[in-house]
Amino acid sequence: MNEHGQARRVLVVGGGVAGTTVSIFLKQLGYDPILFEKRSKMGDVGGSLNLAPNGLKAASFANLDGPLIDAGAEIDNWKFMTPSGEVLTDFPIANPVKERYGYTFVGVKRTKLLEVLHKAVEETNGIKLKLGYNLKQIKNTPTGVTAVFQNGEEFHGDLLIGADGLHSTTRYLLFGDNVATYTGLTQVIGIADIPKDIRGDPNTFLNVAGRGAHFITYPFNKNELCYGCTQRDEPASESWKEVDVDHAKNSLFAKWSPVSSIIENSTKVIKIGLYDRPSLKSWSKDRVLLIGDAAHATSPHLGQGANQALEDAYNLFCVLKRHSNVQEAFEEFYKIREPRTTALVTSARKYGEVRVCDDEQKCLERDEGYKQLFENGVNWEVFDKTYKI
Ligand SMILES: Cc1cc2nc3c(=O)[nH]c(=O)nc-3n(C[C@H](O)[C@H](O)[C@H](O)COP(=O)(O)OP(=O)(O)OC[C@H]3O[C@@H](n4cnc5c(N)ncnc54)[C@H](O)[C@@H]3O)c2cc1C
Repeated sequence: MNEHGQARRVLVVGGGVAGTTVSIFLKQLGYDPILFEKRSKMGDVGGSLNLAPNGLKAASFANLDGPLIDAGAEIDNWKFMTPSGEVLTDFPIANPVKERYGYTFVGVKRTKLLEVLHKAVEETNGIKLKLGYNLKQIKNTPTGVTAVFQNGEEFHGDLLIGADGLHSTTRYLLFGDNVATYTGLTQVIGIADIPKDIRGDPNTFLNVAGRGAHFITYPFNKNELCYGCTQRDEPASESWKEVDVDHAKNSLFAKWSPVSSIIENSTKVIKIGLYDRPSLKSWSKDRVLLIGDAAHATSPHLGQGANQALEDAYNLFCVLKRHSNVQEAFEEFYKIREPRTTALVTSARKYGEVRVCDDEQKCLERDEGYKQLFENGVNWEVFDKTYKI
């Protein structure tokens, strides 16, 4: 409650994974969240996301795990191959990880994921969702914080959560530029109809490890899959813009035997440069806190962007429950979340380096590592670091 005995109003900026989920958690705690999203329609943008056991468990505390699983395709196997079709490893991952963590991995189209999260927001009594509100400025006042939007409207709240993603305006307004470092890698992301020859196969997270490029793919429903191919390349824009499908069809990996039919079936292709950012010394200032990609954007090689956004939302719920003093809650949130997310950002960068190799010897070592990945079953010590919460 604020000094007038009303539920504390929280301005949540960004209607992506972090912003929607945190709004639902805030409502559970008795806050009065208003969720602002700059897009006036969410539209069909981006590719897909791989929800992991840790993200699904975090989502379960807001009763979102069921709807998220239903929105996608549960992954049965992890398979690693070479471009000539040699199978390095094919491991049925679903049962062991379900037994240990309660969930397997789930491929979800990003558009569908946001549909589910926005529906959950709309069905949570009392959360106001405002589309077409692009944050421009933040003003601290003696009694709270005011968000000013590009359309000229202003809203006053007790707190503001900046969940506005990779190019966060909130982060910029709080701390200035957090310069992005190019990782040396780009990714071509595509959506394709599942080719007839593999339709009906177990849902597989397939890695194809070549020289100069590393390809992954997984289905997100019965008929479609998403793929991503990482290569060393000149810096490219860090945006989710579509390019012509020929971009994938004319690429080196389009000729690889296990994936050529997938590339041929592409319906949408995106090219994005992969960057990461140095860890921030703080994620909050006065009554404003950053969460999700706005606080700790990562390169995608561990598939943890959305999963860490879900973990953030759950952890913010926990610290706000424990502390009536918001500054203490924000400080504890940073103490819990910064070491974990920084470690994952660093590991993701390393995985990218190992996966995409040009040197023959390094490629052989990488492939040997893939062969041994599940020789003794799942290495829980390694898995727990990422997937156990
Ligand atoms: C268009 C798009 C496509 C993507 N496609 C993929 C993909 O295919 N695969 C993948 O792994 N990851 C993708 N991502 C990134 C992925 O969604 C995030 O890494 C992850 O979900 C973390 O979630 P987040 O909520 O922190 O950020 P995001 O999911 O990026 O959400 C941030 C939200 O804030 C909104 N926003 C930004 N600035 C403002 C502002 N000034 N005012 C109000 N709202 C604002 C954005 O429109 C967005 O909806 C995509 C992100 C975007 C924005």
